[in-house]
Amino acid sequence: MVVLTCYNKACSVQGKFEESENGPEACRFHPGGPVFHDAYKGWSCCKKRVTDFGEFLAIPGCTAGPHNPEKSEAPVKPDVKNTGAKEKPDFSKERDAKNYGQETYVSAPPSREKLAAQEASEEESEVEQKCCIKPKILSSLKTELAKMELAEKNRADLTKTVQVGWPCSRSGCQETYKGEASNANCCTYHPGVPIFHEGMKFWSCCERKTSDFTAFLNQAGCETTENHDWVHPDEAALKSKENSRYDFHQTPTNITLNIYCRGVIPKETTVNVSNCRVEIDFCFGIRKTQMSLAVTELWGKVNATKSRLNIGSTKLELIMKKKTSGSWKKLHAEEIGATVFFGMKDKKPAIWPDNVASDSGEAQAAAKEKTVQKKEVVVSKHVISKPVEEDLDVDDLLENEWS
Ligand SMILES: [Zn+2]
Ligand SMILES: [Zn+2]
Ligand SMILES: [Zn+2]
Ligand SMILES: [Zn+2]
Repeated sequence: MVVLTCYNKACSVQGKFEESENGPEACRFHPGGPVFHDAYKGWSCCKKRVTDFGEFLAIPGCTAGPHNPEKSEAPVKPDVKNTGAKEKPDFSKERDAKNYGQETYVSAPPSREKLAAQEASEEESEVEQKCCIKPKILSSLKTELAKMELAEKNRADLTKTVQVGWPCSRSGCQETYKGEASNANCCTYHPGVPIFHEGMKFWSCCERKTSDFTAFLNQAGCETTENHDWVHPDEAALKSKENSRYDFHQTPTNITLNIYCRGVIPKETTVNVSNCRVEIDFCFGIRKTQMSLAVTELWGKVNATKSRLNIGSTKLELIMKKKTSGSWKKLHAEEIGATVFFGMKDKKPAIWPDNVASDSGEAQAAAKEKTVQKKEVVVSKHVISKPVEEDLDVDDLLENEWS
């Protein structure tokens, strides 16, 4: 038995056939080429038009004939037309060329190139826009923040007079106060926070990654300062709980990004999403640690305005709606060099192109006006906005039901 590849477009047996089964009408396929006009997709040989790429792939062949084991010389180019469209950026041409070169059309899940090419056909009529997403504050976070407030108040009551046995508050410094002589030596510490990610442990300040927890704990500090910061043991215990990690999971329609850390402070946390990028600046814990997660380009496109943000006592959860249903291989488009930054806010790279407007203020108004004029689809970079709440007083927390 010899299995051959059929190069007919949209071959009815997914491009694999046995030589003995070939015959004058063994294959149903499209003799024409793909046609993408605005949101409509179809084949030049027949009339059916659909908007969804999956449906396009599923349009049954309109013509019967034998399977074709001969690879054609000329690459298949889709006929792409977008009303009022300007020249496509080079990268999308490249993606199209790769996608429609000589590959088989039917496959699942799609490769990123295929998804990107599909979405690129709609891309030029879209303006990337930053949207700020408003969080839903879960009751568990209200409780946690109330605890933090109390800890803060109790801390004010703690004696400030250093006593023998008090630890140094700084991460990575193992010193305890033994007497006046302890003030003579320098403090070597990690100004960052511990990050646990994909089995690796490291400090956000120096990022020396290790999978061994003991080795991680024993990593000498990366900064030195003259004096230790002696604190009451209770306070030191609270600080030692501060660490952070992230992960993501997905369904065919959603991609969910989780950041795990205790006591996120909503009014100092901002989440921005566009159709292809994510930036989360978050602040957590009694030390008010400022961290960021930034994805320079997502693996696929999302519908930013439909993003949801939940913040609980130990987790920040961003649920984004995929523009096209299907499975993503990764969170970020590694294939084209995209990266995920996770670390101290002040080390965060700039991820937004200059022309990306925020969804508030004049830029947005201008973008909307343009949309009306050109009948373009605006996909916004949604700033998942800061909450309206001004105070985090314990009293307010107890009285107010945050939306
Ligand atoms: Zn056809
Ligand atoms: Zn065939
Ligand atoms: Zn120290
Ligand atoms: Zn360090």
